Amino acid sequence: MAGITLKKSKLSSAVRSKLRGYYANVPGVDPSYVDARWRQWEANPDVFVYLARSDDKVKGWIVYNQAASTVLDILAVDEKEQPEALFRMMDVLIDVQSLVSAEIHKADEHKYRWMIEYGFRPTRSLRANGAPLLRMDLSISLLAERFHGHKPVRTYRKKEKVAIQKVPESPGYEEIKKGVSSLINKLGGLRKFVGQGQTVVIKPNLVADHGMMDGVYRGGVVTDIRIVRALIELALPIAGKVIIAEGSSINRSATMKMFALYGYDKLVDIDPKKVSIVDLNTDNAVEKVVPWGKRMLARKVPVTLEQADAIINVPVMKLHFAAVVSLSVKSLQGAMPPLEKYMTHFFGLWQNLVNIHHLVKPKLHIIDGIIGQEDFGPVSGIPKTMNLLIGGTNPVAVDAVTMRIMGVEPLTSPPVWLAYMQGLGPVEPEKIRVVGPSIDEVASPFKHPKIDLASGRDFAIHAGNACPGCKGYLHFAVAKLRRPDPADPSRLLIDRPFERKVNIYLGPATDERINPDERNVFLGICQQHNAQQGGTHLPGCPPHAEVLINGLFNLFPDVERPKYADKTEEAKLEEMLKEVLASIS
Ligand code: SF4
Repeated sequence: MAGITLKKSKLSSAVRSKLRGYYANVPGVDPSYVDARWRQWEANPDVFVYLARSDDKVKGWIVYNQAASTVLDILAVDEKEQPEALFRMMDVLIDVQSLVSAEIHKADEHKYRWMIEYGFRPTRSLRANGAPLLRMDLSISLLAERFHGHKPVRTYRKKEKVAIQKVPESPGYEEIKKGVSSLINKLGGLRKFVGQGQTVVIKPNLVADHGMMDGVYRGGVVTDIRIVRALIELALPIAGKVIIAEGSSINRSATMKMFALYGYDKLVDIDPKKVSIVDLNTDNAVEKVVPWGKRMLARKVPVTLEQADAIINVPVMKLHFAAVVSLSVKSLQGAMPPLEKYMTHFFGLWQNLVNIHHLVKPKLHIIDGIIGQEDFGPVSGIPKTMNLLIGGTNPVAVDAVTMRIMGVEPLTSPPVWLAYMQGLGPVEPEKIRVVGPSIDEVASPFKHPKIDLASGRDFAIHAGNACPGCKGYLHFAVAKLRRPDPADPSRLLIDRPFERKVNIYLGPATDERINPDERNVFLGICQQHNAQQGGTHLPGCPPHAEVLINGLFNLFPDVERPKYADKTEEAKLEEMLKEVLASIS
């Protein structure tokens, strides 16, 4: 079959009669199903049909909802060409729309089977006009493999500028301020980004308290306060208000404690009338529609960010055990309300990081590379002195340059790859103009974390093609089993003998036969289909650390479960978990 092309077309009576004919042969589908769905689709201006053609012949149809990036139905003309024709139609659709989801009738086993083979996974049960539907979401791991080397859906035409600024060894405050000022001047000066009298929000990364050990500050975990002070002092002559805003991720609502711990609360004293701090975890929020509705149709955004004239994002140059790096693209996760942070794990963290950048658009990203963090970032790694500042207006371009300085290939990070594929910014060196020293001149490879997924005695880990997300989070959770078993300290918990062998499955590929007589635990969206065979499913993409720890320690009911956060925060997480599970069930 020659190449398939897709042409947008209207919902036509010809497509409706093809659908009627198709479902007439699917046992268990009510004869009124197509007409009821059809009326719904006709009433929705975002629904249209893609006509798939090859060799001037119609090969099939895709009923598509643009606002939700969802395939509402898909049919190939020739039964004999299935599933090949359907696979190729889907390939072309993803090349023009990037990540898509699908809704299928629960009784449509044929569609379910080929979609699983393609890489979709059933994530939720839905109902439409009384008909039972399944929502199918793509495995990002399989998508990345299948579309490796493909072009982005929208070619990024602009050439982006990214500035690199060296600062002296062990810099003092004035040297840092001079560096910040020089970096911004290379990008056109602060007045290019901040207008007279405007409200500026500076969003540092204050993820957790790990940056303070026994009262001594440890670089590479949170944004160096001196960069934020310099930004405030540079902005005050122009801005009407400067707000330092963050929502700590690990300690959740404890952002104010983080502000105090690192001395950020004192920054207000620079000009108490104009400078303030805001905890984005407790800020009021407004609901905003996510353009193209990939994975989530709407997200709540703190009003402080919504009302800002200019946002300056100041992440730290660090590796991340699951996202590979935590830089401009990743760090806006901290800007979202706590329930949103938690929910995104269930709907798909990687895509939702991209979604945030459609709703919250910093005018400037400045990477704090004075001291970075290698190994097991974002909080438990090793500080690495770099004496650099990197800045620009496009998060993908800034991250691509920073990652190359760190010796990391930009497209290995799932959220950066998705952002690039969806046209958020360029990673190609020819599309990024680096000003200041060259990448080669300042590059120094970061040491990657060693992810240990070794199995135990009766505890087998099957990591078929999992992306860094599930691998990283599982490593984090399983590390808590690599300690003496209280029932017999001569062995590790992970080596405890089990009557029924434990299998942990992650990633989209499952080469081993699943034995329903063993205790099977299935991780994330990639393994959601296998969970139907019995066993425990730990939902998410990647599953949240707390969900994994709870799930694994349920296998050891006599052992006290390690706490993810303090008692109050744990209780809040449990409440949030109930709320999220209720919303997706
Ligand atoms: S479920 Fe896990 S392995 Fe699959 S794409 Fe998500 S994070 Fe990666």
